Amino acid sequence: EEITHILAAGEVVERPASCVKEVIENSIDAGATLIDIRLEKGGIKKIEVYDNGKGIHPEDIEYVFERHTTSKIKSVDDIFKIKTMGFRGEALCAISSVSKVILISRHYQQEQGCKVEVEGGKLTSKTVYPFEKGTKIIIEDLFFNTPARLKFLKSPSTEQKYCTEVVEKIAICYPEISFRMQVDSKRQLFTPGDGKVESAIASVFGSEILKNLIDFYLEEQGLKVWGYFVNPVLSKSTRSGYYFYVNRRFIRSKLLSSCIDEAFKNSILTGRFPIVFLFVEIDPVDVDVNVHPAKLEIKFKDERFVYNTVYKAVLKALQSEKI
Ligand code: ADP
Ligand code: MG
Repeated sequence: EEITHILAAGEVVERPASCVKEVIENSIDAGATLIDIRLEKGGIKKIEVYDNGKGIHPEDIEYVFERHTTSKIKSVDDIFKIKTMGFRGEALCAISSVSKVILISRHYQQEQGCKVEVEGGKLTSKTVYPFEKGTKIIIEDLFFNTPARLKFLKSPSTEQKYCTEVVEKIAICYPEISFRMQVDSKRQLFTPGDGKVESAIASVFGSEILKNLIDFYLEEQGLKVWGYFVNPVLSKSTRSGYYFYVNRRFIRSKLLSSCIDEAFKNSILTGRFPIVFLFVEIDPVDVDVNVHPAKLEIKFKDERFVYNTVYKAVLKALQSEKI
């Protein structure tokens, strides 16, 4: 049983960044408007996440660590139909089997909070705990009981970079949530939570970027494509990056990458460091999802249509821009 959990953990929990992603997604599912993330040693020593969401009922709190306990859904074939980020009930089980977890939560209908401690998958304590609101999870000493996996991690600064990327990517598509991140007690990110994607982008890249953002929008046969790119001529950024979101989930996509590359290649605006934020809103039935626990890659049923629509939207904006 324990071995199964540790094996399962390998799929969901590759590194600190995957823990950060899972925990933040739980906070989003809990309806949080504020998510505070604190990391030590790239998340290897400690990941602490507080959210002001609805909390966990004291009767349920120790069961969240059991496999396939999810309060969200029973069975799924297409994750894009689901309103919540999590649905498999695997993340906390996996994380707690390879770390030391403290979970403190106060359910919104309860007078008191509750605190549980789990080490290597075993519940070691449960106590009543005064807590104002929401949930705090502290994940310490990741992979303390699986030294082979610990060795596989990169340096704390590289693991930190991965964690930061995850938080930034999620923060950009959840602008209504205020994300705060501290790294080794230094503030690293603060998004205002004002509901504007531009504000979240400014928090991540610096407010200078706003002057050079060019927006695009196109809707065709129920497919909505919108977003921003940074004017590559004016941009002083030495960071490049493609941020792709499909129905509010961050994805990786070779199709979309080559589409954007092509649009930039065929425009008069060229620069070395393209930055693009692309939001695709599509009917879930038009997406095939390769449901892998850790990474998210998808396949559009009509790739050509998606490609063409994105291409048109981006190229039009690129060409209408005066230099
Ligand atoms: P899933 O998200 O797939 O349901 P998880 O293992 O990530 O599975 O979480 C298990 C359960 O724990 C969730 O379904 C939810 O009920 C509860 N939970 C976890 N984190 C939080 C949180 N921050 N706030 C409220 N409930 C939470
Ligand atoms: Mg989850």
